[in-house]
Amino acid sequence: MAALRKPVIAGNWKMYKTIAEAKELAEAVVRGLDNSFGAATLILIPPFTAIQEVKRTVSGTAIAVGAQDVFWEEKGAFTGEISPLQLKEAGCDFVVIGHSERRQYFGETDETVRKKTLAALCHGLTPIVCFGETLEERESGRTLDRIKAQLELSLFTLEEADFSRVVLAYEPIWAIGTGRNATPEQAEEVQAFTRSLVASRYGKTAADYAIILYGGSVKPNNALSLAREKDVDGFLVGGASLEAESFLAIAREALRAVRD
Ligand code: PEP
Repeated sequence: MAALRKPVIAGNWKMYKTIAEAKELAEAVVRGLDNSFGAATLILIPPFTAIQEVKRTVSGTAIAVGAQDVFWEEKGAFTGEISPLQLKEAGCDFVVIGHSERRQYFGETDETVRKKTLAALCHGLTPIVCFGETLEERESGRTLDRIKAQLELSLFTLEEADFSRVVLAYEPIWAIGTGRNATPEQAEEVQAFTRSLVASRYGKTAADYAIILYGGSVKPNNALSLAREKDVDGFLVGGASLEAESFLAIAREALRAVRD
């Protein structure tokens, strides 16, 4: 974690929590806040149905709210989809795009990621764009090629001004929800590589300021060692964000890595 970049800790609640449960969890996160968290950006990402309630619950705090997906059109006959305009109105400032579960179960591609990212940016939402390799790609030595291809087809098509508003999230698919996190060295290898690709495409300043999160079985007990890597700027947390205590403990570890 470099002091130049403010750590971001985002909790992806996936398809968990009713509205009442989401409110309870958001209240618990708010209760656990103290001044030290001002040095980080905390984002709660509930299911669509709970966005407004969570937004109301965190109002008056620095906690931001995000959504787990978005469609690229502003409105129209797209049954079941939700538009960036609607997310913004509901209180979102962030949106996750291209999560591996969306790619795996719902046919998302680098092209849909590109379109969704542009649409989000057009409506003032900050995209948190996920990318990462499968276990098979890692084991056959194709991790970096895969990362490069994903980024080139999605994010690197953006103009520099747009790219500078995107948060990147490296999420090795084999580490998501498996309890098997990437080691700090594995995360750093990919994230340093990602930053070098950003530097080649957009220049050193853009690379220095790019926020690159790690996601994949982050827990309070592995967060500090991951956060100490210089190109890990925070976390996209799934399972451990479903409890306020573990989510805040991870954020505390990320802040500790900046201070140390
Ligand atoms: C995620 O959903 O983005 C994620 C990283 O999940 P988990 O932390 O449970 O592996």
